[in-house]
Amino acid sequence: MGQFVTFWTALGRLFQSFQLKDLLDVALVSFIIYNAIKLIRETRAAQLVKGIILVAGVWLIALAFNLYVMTSLLQYLFQFGLLAVVVLFQPELRRALEQIGRSGNLNDAGKKFFGTQRNWKSEERETRKLRGIIAIVDSCEAMSKSKTGALIVFERHTRLGEIINTGTVVNAVPSAPIICNIFFNKAPLHDGAMIIRDGMVYAAGCILPLTKDETVDINLGTRHRAAIGMSENSDAVVVVVSEETGQISIALNSSITRNYTRETLKEKLCSLLLEEPVPKKKWNGFFSKRGRKES
Ligand code: ATP
Ligand code: MG
Repeated sequence: MGQFVTFWTALGRLFQSFQLKDLLDVALVSFIIYNAIKLIRETRAAQLVKGIILVAGVWLIALAFNLYVMTSLLQYLFQFGLLAVVVLFQPELRRALEQIGRSGNLNDAGKKFFGTQRNWKSEERETRKLRGIIAIVDSCEAMSKSKTGALIVFERHTRLGEIINTGTVVNAVPSAPIICNIFFNKAPLHDGAMIIRDGMVYAAGCILPLTKDETVDINLGTRHRAAIGMSENSDAVVVVVSEETGQISIALNSSITRNYTRETLKEKLCSLLLEEPVPKKKWNGFFSKRGRKES
């Protein structure tokens, strides 16, 4: 009974000394825990966390029953386990830190705060990006029909210098003939991925990291696994054309969506890569010049 009273007195005192900064403290910790759960959910790390909780449970039981050998063994396991987790989950940790970095992107925050300031330079960049998207949509449609395999990475905030170094720098203005030519299966640069940087075909023949996710559809081969792997390690948008089926897919944020048509591919790429929606007039302008009718 005495203990019960002490508990309530302590709790009362705690509430009396509760300040605004404590509220901020609790809110911050809750925010971090919430985002950590969101980050690891549905990844390899989720299983790891379950494993750690299980081992911690066994450790508590061993501690309660004073099982000396078991307690010391688990203590060692935890000590070395932490190091092993950092090594084994390096890609996940890297991605998590990159995501944190991206959400704090000062450029984006600035734009949100001050509103999007359009100047001629950003106008020019947007036009170049749009031209790139159109060329890719055109070439993907053609390659899908001719069943030519393609792997195209749109660089966004995460710089892909390391990936570009594995291939050949092209730095060409994108057009359907150039893109189809690169992926033509007798061409020297057809193997590997093409990188689109700032609306230019920046590099080709690049090697991407393959996903290690075991839940990926077993029917997907290395081209699609490389696309998913790239989307796990960066914020890039990756377009794949299957050599076997002609299907067009997009890998983004560790997952792949399939069966895009010309229309849906165009819409998806514009919404992901352009800062503002494209006025219909602009699309029509681009396509009528190319002798194409857009709906
Ligand atoms: P498809 O449906 O086109 O057959 P797939 O997913 O079944 O694609 P594979 O048949 O294994 O994949 O495709 C092999 C091709 O994918 C290679 O010739 C190469 O061009 C490309 N590729 C494979 N691995 C990588 C990688 N790590 N980085 C870049 N490109 C890769
Ligand atoms: Mg295949």
